[in-house]
Amino acid sequence: MAPIQISEGLYQLKVPMRANPLGYTFSYLLSDSRTLIDTGIPSWDAYASLDRQLGEVGIKATGIERVVLTHLHNDHVGLVNYLRERSTVDILAHRVAIERQQEQTRVYRELYRATSQELQFMGGGAFQQFLGRFERAFSREDAEPLRIDKPLEDGQQLELGQRKLRVIWTPGHAVEHICLYDADRRTFFSGDHVLPKITSHVSLHTWEERDPLGDYIASLEKVRDLPVDIVLPGHERNFTDLAGRVDQLKAHHRARLEEVKQALKAGRNTVFDVAGAIHWDSRPWVIMDFWTKRMAATETYAHLIYLRNKGEVSETKVEGVLTFGLV
Ligand SMILES: [Zn+2]
Repeated sequence: MAPIQISEGLYQLKVPMRANPLGYTFSYLLSDSRTLIDTGIPSWDAYASLDRQLGEVGIKATGIERVVLTHLHNDHVGLVNYLRERSTVDILAHRVAIERQQEQTRVYRELYRATSQELQFMGGGAFQQFLGRFERAFSREDAEPLRIDKPLEDGQQLELGQRKLRVIWTPGHAVEHICLYDADRRTFFSGDHVLPKITSHVSLHTWEERDPLGDYIASLEKVRDLPVDIVLPGHERNFTDLAGRVDQLKAHHRARLEEVKQALKAGRNTVFDVAGAIHWDSRPWVIMDFWTKRMAATETYAHLIYLRNKGEVSETKVEGVLTFGLV
């Protein structure tokens, strides 16, 4: 893999992620300011690939001065500590990322208990025994939160060498998610907020107080009408029709909300029950493994909470299980 030059001083690097069906994360190099936007998964293979690709444009991984993170998912932040162990590098992310780190540290301390309780709340109690087999894998005491050096604010202009990038806070896929917009060059770095083919996972845990789907839809509208010639995403491929893709994504979630309401109308009332009635792009619910079902359930929960906040759905707790119904 060789880096692809997008425009003067801007390169797209494909950082491999072999075990993941997405195949790779895009990292973007702004060469004159020695800046990377996102990195890749934490693996030697990924680090070696990043270092080799940077070498092709005459920069070493140890010469990187800063990393701007679109969000804190592992496939974007993974190589930050690899870079940090070898040189001084500033890490920039949205201010909310820091709050999120603290929250996650708290949750990780008792992640197994929280996950087990969530399974109960969501009506997935039948899987408790199965989950129990993984209890030890949940101990994450060694997980040090990533240190963020410079918190970013929505609307802030980053001056990076020849380029000015505007920070656009786009919560939804992750609460700390940002996109970066280069108005002069009509270039939009979309992270995982807008991908050309797959729909980003928008999910909610029962221990969180948020409306990620409401945030996500608002964040789609926030970027829809930006004048752009090219969209540079975190995965898949570059594209041009930002507004068209935003409209497709909104339509996708509208259809899913409709499916959720139909399921409730048919008498399904727990998160797992409703998730089982939805058409999932990856594979049908009945043949999903437990971990995929759990992801589908947290995504369904985000849709139910969105409808609850709109006053279309009621939520009650019956014998320790969250129960939803049409209002
Ligand atoms: Zn990603």
